[in-house]
Amino acid sequence: MTEFAALVDGYRRFRDNGWSRERARWEQLAEGQAPRVMLVACSDSRVDPATIYDATPGEMFVVRNVATLVPPYEPDGSYHGVSAALEFAVTQLGVSEIVVMGHGFCGGCAAALTGQFSGTGPGEGGFIAHWIDMLADARARVRAAHPEPLDRAAYLEMEHEGVRVSLRNLRTFPWVAERERAGSLALHGAFFAISDGVLHLLDEASGRFSAA
Ligand SMILES: [Zn+2]
Repeated sequence: MTEFAALVDGYRRFRDNGWSRERARWEQLAEGQAPRVMLVACSDSRVDPATIYDATPGEMFVVRNVATLVPPYEPDGSYHGVSAALEFAVTQLGVSEIVVMGHGFCGGCAAALTGQFSGTGPGEGGFIAHWIDMLADARARVRAAHPEPLDRAAYLEMEHEGVRVSLRNLRTFPWVAERERAGSLALHGAFFAISDGVLHLLDEASGRFSAA
């Protein structure tokens, strides 16, 4: 059996249980979505937002990518997947909250800290290197505070910095900043530790994360 075939078996269980039990709600969802929260998370297979928040379909508009990053506002001719999703969530769906949820043992944040893919071409890590280059300033800050050899505290700080950088970048989008100023949009930083299953929330005033 292929891995995907195993997943299709899972789909059959869902169809028999989850879907049929909530059939009416699925029919209602077919008429349109109205999530109140947008969530940015990592593509990492261990940090599925619906599982962590025990959320149901329709509750969260989710974007996942390498290292949970929101790029800065760059109105150029490139293909901006995260910016398109953000624009849709904020200006079309009118979400009232955006959560940036980093996580422990993040490979993307680790690569940003160690420079694992720097200098590589597309297909050799080059796309990753360019993407996580968004964390270059954060890397310099963390490196200055944590001399070699890099310990878990250094990686953790890099993971936390990733959330702060994404929140900063979110505020470079004019329609995010305007809505936040007007009080119709709130931004949150969060961090899921994985190993102990604990979610931490960022207090932006102090810059500290603490257990929810
Ligand atoms: Zn990650």
